[in-house]
Amino acid sequence: MNRSLLVLCALAGVPVAAAAQGGKAWPPNSLDRPKPPVVDPGPERPPVPPPSDAIVLFDGTDLSQWQMRDSTPAKWIVRAGYVEVAPGTGSMQTRRGFGDVQLHIEWATPNPPHGDSQERGNSGVFLMSHYEIQVLDGWHNITYADGYQGAVYGQTPPLVNASRPPGQWQTYDIVFHRPRFGPDGAVVRPARVTVLHNGVLVQDNTEITGWTVHNAVAHYRPHADRLPLILQDHENPTRFRNIWIRELAEQE
Ligand code: MG
Repeated sequence: MNRSLLVLCALAGVPVAAAAQGGKAWPPNSLDRPKPPVVDPGPERPPVPPPSDAIVLFDGTDLSQWQMRDSTPAKWIVRAGYVEVAPGTGSMQTRRGFGDVQLHIEWATPNPPHGDSQERGNSGVFLMSHYEIQVLDGWHNITYADGYQGAVYGQTPPLVNASRPPGQWQTYDIVFHRPRFGPDGAVVRPARVTVLHNGVLVQDNTEITGWTVHNAVAHYRPHADRLPLILQDHENPTRFRNIWIRELAEQE
């Protein structure tokens, strides 16, 4: 935001964060909010190999790095090189916790597609267990802007809709900086996230405004410095492959 706009905001009493998002603070899950423009990201690509310092969370063969939310063994289905959500079994989380990270994850939504809007290929990547980057089949699928794939769910829509068709492999490359809380639990610095969807920028150092909630305004609650990564069971058999993560040095 430029200086003159900042001054205008101050004069008008407009919250800067709201102004930065286009001058209007949209309510969560608003169907009136402008939809992200469609961009063709190019053809499906082979898996992106992990760099040497990455922790491989899933290489296509086993779920040893994962468990269910209640700490029982992971129940999702591993097939040839991918894992598929077993609908109704619950969400799956990493055994270890993470803070600031770079995450690579590949996913494919069911083909042929079933359902509409949020019921089509819905899953999610929950950073630190609480901050969802939405996974959805956004190919010719109308939903609310902050519910598309690549959205910080319920908060910030993706900059563009860079979907490939259902059944094709898609990628997320995510850079996440965790929130910092003071000794009293107050937010000292909110979390921030950058997301590339199929190599296309969809979140550009976006401030996360709190824990992911459905159809409500997000708020923070304090939590540990490291928490598991969760993949969401939203009752759709979405697939994942080639999941790796790099722990980032803490920036102060
Ligand atoms: Mg979801």
